Amino acid sequence: EVKQRERLEVLTWDLEQANARLEELDRLKSEFVSMAGHQLRAPMTIIKGYASLLLEGTIKGTTDTAKEALKKIMFSTEQLIKLVASLLDLSRIESGKIKYEFVMHDFSAMVQEVIDKFKPNAQKKGIAFVFENKLGPASFIFDTDKLREAVVNYVDNAVKYTDTGDVRVTLSSMQGPDGAWARLEVRDSGIGIKNEDIWKLFDKFSRTEEAKRQDPNGMGIGLYFAKRVIRDHGGNVGAFSEGIGRGSTFWLELPMSLKS
Ligand code: ADP
Repeated sequence: EVKQRERLEVLTWDLEQANARLEELDRLKSEFVSMAGHQLRAPMTIIKGYASLLLEGTIKGTTDTAKEALKKIMFSTEQLIKLVASLLDLSRIESGKIKYEFVMHDFSAMVQEVIDKFKPNAQKKGIAFVFENKLGPASFIFDTDKLREAVVNYVDNAVKYTDTGDVRVTLSSMQGPDGAWARLEVRDSGIGIKNEDIWKLFDKFSRTEEAKRQDPNGMGIGLYFAKRVIRDHGGNVGAFSEGIGRGSTFWLELPMSLKS
């Protein structure tokens, strides 16, 4: 009798917890939709505004003001493209329709491409950007577009959430029971993360207060997508930080067992 009552209490408690989590997700989703709506509208308004100034001739032809206007149009267009990409990633994960194309590639070469792409961004912010490749050429089978996006999310975040100091990307290899693994580590000297926040960063919509302050426009999708993609390649992800203002390290590990 007492045992049964205890069991019932435990079950009720579990249900309440699950329900609270669902309500929280529901709230986050509404917040996300409203935020995405605003974020779609803002750059579109900018693009439309400057395009019409150019069209009406208020801003003339090839002048510096015209170039400025075009730059703003470009920037807002890029923001839109990123946002739409995030929305698509989210909907693909949610509907269980991520399609992978597993082909043989050089993982090091792909990471090098991402590094080359982000170097100017880091330099513009005055951050040192260092890439150390201890892995060397590493060909195995993976979906290069998806993994590139995961790596881009790590590197993009490191640059975005760091104002002074450096971003260090390290590639290395590890020996697992089932063969060699590749490990990518992105370490920065940026805003850092509270210990109690770390476990949820890879969940959807998860953003720390510090991150919201640094970049109000983030969507909290990038790491969720990265985790899913790495897991689907049989790998692992993780993060650690010494605390607020003391930088962060994000890592991912991939088995290189698939070779042909
Ligand atoms: P977004 O950057 O759009 O918010 P992400 O999914 O890429 O979304 O990241 C989720 C959250 O993880 C961020 O909002 C931030 O709180 C935290 N985060 C990610 N990378 C870093 C980093 N390099 N330094 C500090 N916090 C980070």
